[in-house]
Amino acid sequence: MNKNSYYGQFGGQYVSEALMNTLHSVEEAFEEAIKDQKFWEEYNYYMKEYVGRENPLYFAKRLTEKYGPKIYLKREDLNHTGAHKINNVIGQILLARRMGKTKVIAETGAGQHGVATATGAALFGMECTIFMGAEDIQRQELNVFRMKMLGAQVVSVTSGSSTLKDATNEAIRAWAKTAEDTFYVIGSAVGPHPYPKMVKEFQRVIGREAKAQILEKEGRLPDYVVACCGGGSNSIGMFADFLDEENVKFVGVEAAGLGIETGKHASAMAMGKPGVLHGMRSYLLQDDDGNVQIAHSISAGLDYPGIGPEHAYLRDTKKVEYVSVTDEECINALLELCKLEGIIPAIESAHAMAYVFKMAKDMPKDQIIVMCLSGRGDKDVHTVASYLKGEDMNK
Ligand SMILES: *Cc1c(COP(=O)(O)O)cnc(C)c1O
Repeated sequence: MNKNSYYGQFGGQYVSEALMNTLHSVEEAFEEAIKDQKFWEEYNYYMKEYVGRENPLYFAKRLTEKYGPKIYLKREDLNHTGAHKINNVIGQILLARRMGKTKVIAETGAGQHGVATATGAALFGMECTIFMGAEDIQRQELNVFRMKMLGAQVVSVTSGSSTLKDATNEAIRAWAKTAEDTFYVIGSAVGPHPYPKMVKEFQRVIGREAKAQILEKEGRLPDYVVACCGGGSNSIGMFADFLDEENVKFVGVEAAGLGIETGKHASAMAMGKPGVLHGMRSYLLQDDDGNVQIAHSISAGLDYPGIGPEHAYLRDTKKVEYVSVTDEECINALLELCKLEGIIPAIESAHAMAYVFKMAKDMPKDQIIVMCLSGRGDKDVHTVASYLKGEDMNK
């Protein structure tokens, strides 16, 4: 057993024997790459010239006037492709190239990680295959078309519930057969070791920038750092460089869907139990027999029955507080951010915003909250419109 692969009791490498060597070579290449300054120079080059970093840490003046404490937004929505996912994809594809791989595969649910991976593959001239549940392919027509425009092949997965969980299983199976020339680009801080660690390192740029920016603007660290949690990549990247600071507090915001009490939610931290899925041990939504349950949220990006293993550990050690926000609270916060700041956020990011509004009520005005605005909301305009018309998006 590889001790480095665990965060307390969470993490690990729960994969078939056939994949162990592959994971081992990814780990070796990764550990070597992150010690190589040239690798980071290349990564930084693409972050600046292609993704458009650094992005602003924006002081939300009107939100601050209305809600009390100083509210700062880390603008990942301004990145090329409109969210934080591209940071990780470029890191992993640079690693794939370094390993001499010519093909990439990825899983996607809503299609955001599929689009980011297809983008990175086009940028570096790599062959790209995206595994997506048949159900999701139907629901996310526009993103499927985007991936195809970018030159990717989209494989429809019809096993299980034909959604993200099944697409991920299929991608892992396909990888075991093709690992010789293929790299598996995982889209969040989940999966078997070394993926959670890799994704954290490639998303760390969010918090590193935010920390320097807040020190420059305020001359001190924030009181709270807040981010939404699906698999947990924007949040772990946002938290990473602050975690050693004793006086900073952390909040991760999950999706409560129609309400935790209804059973229709995606709050793995509130209601999940430790279990194994997608090569890792973490908190998972499961029934009494240990079957993984279908998560439920208006936000496709938070609609995952688990969470990354480091978050599970940060929960148990009480370093981070995990909370949840319902669909309704999220949509109200989304509209508030539109009207008061002229920013249409992703529905995922609006979950973090909703909790910021809640916590602000009890905070003194001189305190500082830094929130990760993980993505822009263009992709969600239809969902918001249907929600406001009263259609049930959560069928
Ligand atoms: C995918 C996505 C998320 C959720 O994923 P994490 O890995 O938890 O960050 C959050 N926000 C946006 C905009 C996304 O696209």
